[in-house]
Amino acid sequence: MTVPIVQTAVYTFADSQALVDFTEERMFWDEPEREEYGRYGNPTVRAVEAKLAALEGAEDAVVVASGMAAVTSSLLLLLSAGQHFVLTDNCYHSTLAFSRDFLKRFGIECTLVPCGDYAALEAAIRPNTKLILSESPTNPFMRCLDYEQLVALARRHNLLTLVDTTFATPYNVHPLHYGVDLVIHSITKYLGGHNDLMAGAVLGRVELTTPLRQMQGMLGNILAPQTAYLILRGIKTLALRVERQNASGLTVARLLEDHPKIRRVWYPGLESHPDHAVATATMRGFGGVVSFEVDGDGERAHRLIDALRIPTIGPSLGGVESMVSPLAVMGYAGISPEARAELGIRDELVRLCLGIEDTGDLIADLQQALDKI
Ligand SMILES: *Cc1c(COP(=O)(O)O)cnc(C)c1O
Repeated sequence: MTVPIVQTAVYTFADSQALVDFTEERMFWDEPEREEYGRYGNPTVRAVEAKLAALEGAEDAVVVASGMAAVTSSLLLLLSAGQHFVLTDNCYHSTLAFSRDFLKRFGIECTLVPCGDYAALEAAIRPNTKLILSESPTNPFMRCLDYEQLVALARRHNLLTLVDTTFATPYNVHPLHYGVDLVIHSITKYLGGHNDLMAGAVLGRVELTTPLRQMQGMLGNILAPQTAYLILRGIKTLALRVERQNASGLTVARLLEDHPKIRRVWYPGLESHPDHAVATATMRGFGGVVSFEVDGDGERAHRLIDALRIPTIGPSLGGVESMVSPLAVMGYAGISPEARAELGIRDELVRLCLGIEDTGDLIADLQQALDKI
């Protein structure tokens, strides 16, 4: 019933002829069953890749050491010096840092455009633009992509599209069905699901994943077989977990939106969200992340967070345990208050990432905490 953890760095050959057959008759990198060395592949990791590809409706998946390894490897594979790409804003902070600052050293330029503004996206395209990278839903404002519009625009300009749908999971959306070229996941979040591992994945057509796998054998951003086993265990319950997180997300978002002590809520399942229509048309559910502003200052937001009993204060999401964070001091503490304001990150902004606890318990906990502020 379970895939074994193949704990080896080395594979051996029965005799010299077996080695000759392996190196001559098979493409060095493409052998799915075995390799000759662990950096080129591992059967437990291959099992994760096959299951993720099936979940996502992808030809192939490459599993890497973290979500950031998935983002950085994809960009390193597809971009060369002198090229340019477009990134939508409101994206993961390390993705922004890599795109805007790090890649500049290699002569690769990036333009940041507002997520959801397709006219600005098209206007940013230059003759040397190679691809568009976007996230959906975004963090923390949960902007959701209009995949049809994105893909049509990209095709008009002969660009590749890459989307990071970590927040949606393959349970809630299948971007490849709309013609997106590559899907990226931080497995660390919902796919792993238990706040105990780090991994990432890139999924899409074999013509793109094969060179990515070859590059991985060179860069070495591989996954350990024990982690692969934990991912296999985690994704067995993905559907059940995300179903609960979708249900709790919507219930909590509605409670907060109706509450006098809350100024504003961002959740795509709410009619007040700018992407409600497109999210409803493309997604099965809206996920477990609810962002909101407390009506008051940062200090009041901190009091609300400290009064909560179920969610713990932490930077991640997607696990079975709920987590909450005041974003101005969690993900954005390193930047100036002015830059934070430009990103719309106010001191009273809270991100609540729901786990799989009983929805009624989560609601009761929020009620008692709101009563205290
Ligand atoms: C967490 C996250 C990442 C980075 O993933 P790691 O596994 O932490 O490296 C990238 N994109 C999104 C949307 C994320 O939430």
